[in-house]
Amino acid sequence: MKKVIIVTTGGTIAMKKQPAGVDITPEGNQEIMELEGLADFAEVGMFEFANIPSPYMSPQLMWQLSQRIQELVDRDDVDGVVVTHGTDTLEETAYFLDITVLTKKPIVLTAAMRNINELGTDGPRNIFSSIRVACSSQAIGAGAVVCLNDEIHAAREVNKTYTSNVATFESPGFGPLGIVDEDGVFFFRKSTVRYHIPTSKIESHVALLKTYTGDLGEFIDDAVERGYKGIVLEGFGRGNVPETIIDSLKRAIDHQIAVVLVSRSYKGRVLDIYSYEGGGAYLKKMGVILAHEQTGQKARIKLMVVLGKTSDIEEIRSYFEMANYFKMSESEQ
Ligand code: ASP
Repeated sequence: MKKVIIVTTGGTIAMKKQPAGVDITPEGNQEIMELEGLADFAEVGMFEFANIPSPYMSPQLMWQLSQRIQELVDRDDVDGVVVTHGTDTLEETAYFLDITVLTKKPIVLTAAMRNINELGTDGPRNIFSSIRVACSSQAIGAGAVVCLNDEIHAAREVNKTYTSNVATFESPGFGPLGIVDEDGVFFFRKSTVRYHIPTSKIESHVALLKTYTGDLGEFIDDAVERGYKGIVLEGFGRGNVPETIIDSLKRAIDHQIAVVLVSRSYKGRVLDIYSYEGGGAYLKKMGVILAHEQTGQKARIKLMVVLGKTSDIEEIRSYFEMANYFKMSESEQ
């Protein structure tokens, strides 16, 4: 029988309805272990990492979690890890683990949208399904994956899309990697855009800003003044921004701050198409890095990790621009 360690961090899956509202309980993570039938699937151990709502998850905590999980997957007697987490920031931790933990062993993140004493709670089912994924040979080498509602999603692609529904995790533009069914775990495809970024530290001073019509760039100026080392900017469409923030972006770049652009459209890529002032081609010429992550929160996770390794803007760029990434991975083959 395979050995799977459940690493608990808190979230609704460890919460109960209390007089003042749904909240963490000290015994919440423990109850996960008391689910009847867990031992039918695997030899299950538990490591309580934290017991927090996931909006309290921080880059430093993610970094510590990554190191603990690296230690676990390096053990010969551990075959896989299931991480329980709040849904709110789960996709960020999943991506962080995907790029920082070096292993072929399955790392499966799961959660619940409904607390344990709510009608139709999804926590127990999600834990069982995640353990089955962690035991599946098809999950070996798939990186960190997210398993809720019997779907398996790639860490880089998945997003929480619904505030309340149990079918909240989707991978817009990609779809799930696979499903968990009564008779087995089935992976239909692989996510090929995956890589490990070895680093001995991270830089958490990275801002995530969203531009908007009429933006005057004050928040970019503020991030520069406050000494941020990186700015992830969520622009429009193909990767365009208002011309009124160009001076602020130039100032940031002159201060050697890595400026990484993603789109607020959640499908497709940003690209250097438009050459007007504020268009993607204009921004790239200015030194802005065009990212292939789908969302600002994922690009920020990667920028924090990459900045822990290097402050060289061209090296940083090579981690973000899709064409560079494929060149890099081809030359490694
Ligand atoms: N607010 C909760 C959290 O992210 C939501 C959840 O777990 O579903 O911790």
